[in-house]
Amino acid sequence: MANPSLLILAGDGIGPEVMAEVKKIITWMGDKRGLPFDVTEDLVGGAAYDAHGTPLTDATLAKAQEVDAVLLGAVGGPKYDVLDFSVKPERGLLRLRKEMDLFSNLRPAQCFDALADFSSLKRDVVAGLDIMIVRELTSGVYFGEPRGIFKEGNERVGINTQRYTESEIARVARSAFELARRRNNKVCSMEKANVMESGILWRDVVTEVHQKDYQDVELSHMYADAGAMQLCRWPKQFDVIVTDNLFGDLLSDAAAMLTGSLGMLPSASLGAPMANGRPKAMYEPVHGSAPDIAGQGKANPIACILSFAMALRYSFDLGDEATRVESAVEKVLADGVRTADLLGPEGGSPISTSAMGDAILAALDASL
Ligand code: NAD
Repeated sequence: MANPSLLILAGDGIGPEVMAEVKKIITWMGDKRGLPFDVTEDLVGGAAYDAHGTPLTDATLAKAQEVDAVLLGAVGGPKYDVLDFSVKPERGLLRLRKEMDLFSNLRPAQCFDALADFSSLKRDVVAGLDIMIVRELTSGVYFGEPRGIFKEGNERVGINTQRYTESEIARVARSAFELARRRNNKVCSMEKANVMESGILWRDVVTEVHQKDYQDVELSHMYADAGAMQLCRWPKQFDVIVTDNLFGDLLSDAAAMLTGSLGMLPSASLGAPMANGRPKAMYEPVHGSAPDIAGQGKANPIACILSFAMALRYSFDLGDEATRVESAVEKVLADGVRTADLLGPEGGSPISTSAMGDAILAALDASL
């Protein structure tokens, strides 16, 4: 069988720096675990604009459509702020998500014990937390028509439309149930069925999909506002949360901050299954290109490394290897190894991006 294929789009700013550490781990998987990947690399964002005058060429998009998974670093930077909206680096990323129809956005909120004091919540509320927010990414109020600012009598009116079809709800619900089966088998669906028709339909369809194919998974429903409260009160009650685009935007940012640092947060965006059964997929850290620290060896590569761990688990069915990478990260943090962003108010000496990557590799070696 052919090796699994990866397209690496390192992008701009700290993107290439953090991706260099992921590449070390990909090589390690081939050398030490007998799991070789076929890796190709290409440009995206500002780097692609500099080379080709567009943040994503058709050729790169075609490659992204063919591979088993895309790993993306970050895009953007002040140099590109003056560009026309249509060729800004972020347009490359949005085009990838749209053309690959990546409708299911996975944002884990995982709190490593060694970093529990970074959270603004109490240690016992967040230590050991491991939840996953599944946000519908390609529909809902950010896309619905009509939209715009219109004149009505003597004043302007701003309109956006929350619109979901049954099939759009069903496919993201399936994605959440499938994920839950690989985790703790619990899904909580969040909407506002008390005040929104789209919420009533959301609840109906999620229930139907559950009844039909996923009765082995525990399903509960919660109004999204109550869900926000529960996320802050006792987040460990959740395993997988599935919700729409707007509520998911808010809830995933709130959940992410339970864990403390931007340099630690991975994400995945999944689409429909391809011919080989794997979902179309792109994995990327939540953070941006961090121009303020780019080129200085200060960036924390862990968010990008944990994004690769998600690829192992969700694209390649290598959950044990994903856990191995996550455990190596956990060990390094427990040993007190820190990039600058992970130093608390008491300070300490930070290590560089590549030293963090090497420490994680050493922990991986020790796991054999
Ligand atoms: P940012 O995430 O790049 O940086 C915010 C702050 O967090 C900065 O102080 C940065 O130094 C720090 N930070 C981020 N990642 C870090 C890491 N891995 N290690 C240590 N510190 C880290 O957000 P921003 O400053 O608002 O945006 C900078 C550029 O990135 C903009 O052009 C923006 O459009 C773009 N952006 C891209 C993405 C993406 O590619 N997915 C996401 C967000 C922002």
